[in-house]
Amino acid sequence: MKEWTVVVVGGGYAGIHAVKAVWKQYGGHAEGRKLRLLLLDPNPYHLRKVLLFKPAVGADPITVPWRQILPETAEHVQGKAKHIDAAAKVLEYENAEGQLVRLAYDTLVVSVGSVARETETGLGGIALTGMESAVRIRDTWSRNMQAARAESSAEERRRLLTAAVAGAGITGMETASELAYAMREEAARQGLNPEEIRVHLLNAQDRLFREGSMKASRKLEDELAKCGVSVHHLCKAVREENGCLMLSDGEALPVGLTVWTLGLVPNPAVRGFGLPVTKDGRLIVDECYRVKEARGVYAIGDCAFIVDPDSGEAAGMTCKEAIPQAQRLGKIIAADRNGSEAPRHKQVMEGFTIGLGPGRGITWTRKWGLDIIISGSLSYKIKRFVWDYASMLKS
Ligand SMILES: Cc1cc2nc3c(=O)[nH]c(=O)nc-3n(C[C@H](O)[C@H](O)[C@H](O)COP(=O)(O)OP(=O)(O)OC[C@H]3O[C@@H](n4cnc5c(N)ncnc54)[C@H](O)[C@@H]3O)c2cc1C
Repeated sequence: MKEWTVVVVGGGYAGIHAVKAVWKQYGGHAEGRKLRLLLLDPNPYHLRKVLLFKPAVGADPITVPWRQILPETAEHVQGKAKHIDAAAKVLEYENAEGQLVRLAYDTLVVSVGSVARETETGLGGIALTGMESAVRIRDTWSRNMQAARAESSAEERRRLLTAAVAGAGITGMETASELAYAMREEAARQGLNPEEIRVHLLNAQDRLFREGSMKASRKLEDELAKCGVSVHHLCKAVREENGCLMLSDGEALPVGLTVWTLGLVPNPAVRGFGLPVTKDGRLIVDECYRVKEARGVYAIGDCAFIVDPDSGEAAGMTCKEAIPQAQRLGKIIAADRNGSEAPRHKQVMEGFTIGLGPGRGITWTRKWGLDIIISGSLSYKIKRFVWDYASMLKS
């Protein structure tokens, strides 16, 4: 039987949900052809990227084996996409041994996502960009705590027990609150006074969470204060040097650790694919995620520049947007194959859920003109459900 080969490139949130959506649409066969469903990703596991702050504070695993996520008939291919020849329908990728391999496809979904923004060299501190940097963050504060136990100078001990998080987006808020919780817990375990732990969150804007309402910003700031996080508005970190963090307002903050959480940028690999991209390096697609000038190629998630055809609003780089795009894509691919009208992209409902350390969180949404805020343990439960659902640990 002839095969129909669908390759999904990138197994982040968009990619795993795209594999599921295609599989759900067809099962093992599509119009008399056997479906060959492949997921290409350089990692031997799905990384639960939204939990990247976890290895910075503890040892909880944030990877899931492919077999646990992929439908039985889908295969993981370990490799990194390098180039797409859309005219010949061939994807070129580098396999785990560093060899270039050519793979023919019928339908290709590009979902290679984004990467965390790095700091310029020489600025000190550690940017939370991946597992390795997260572990370095944990090692740094753990080492500082050991040193604080033996330190006789109160001033130096205070510095060792102080951390700063530069960048107060959702990742910054979640990282700062988890750090405060973990450092306090460890301080108590080591016989240090948990009240001596200081975590500063540096916010370049005049309030937190500009995506939401003023009321939600204030609530977040209150909750962060309860977690032991002090927020500094209109304040940027400039450089950390010799245990001193220079701030944009001219102050110098003695710190044992600086963590940079500066947001996401489109995956730079996309520029090498040979497909049309925006100035900032995102793939240009139509309202049905079809990549311009590349028949049979679709792009979703953080690596695609997607605009709502009704509102003209561009989708953000968030997991809550990537997943519905992937779910809609299954229907779009089916419609394109049978020549019917494909569903078009639609913006998701306004709403965020932010974890603020174990058992705490804020969920915010705006509906019918109402500003709805849920806080505390219920919000944390919602957040945990969302984390699990996103990585298909809940159906
Ligand atoms: C710490 C942190 C917290 C976050 N919190 C939230 C949150 O609370 N809510 C929210 O909505 N969003 C959050 N985000 C944003 C969210 O993680 C992204 O929007 C989401 O991951 C986008 O999914 P994606 O599948 O498009 O890309 P990604 O998750 O980036 O996945 C891309 C995949 O492609 C693979 N890949 C990369 N290059 C190649 C290549 N050349 N060839 C093949 N495969 C490749 C990668 O290995 C990865 O598996 C957070 C991000 C971070 C870093």
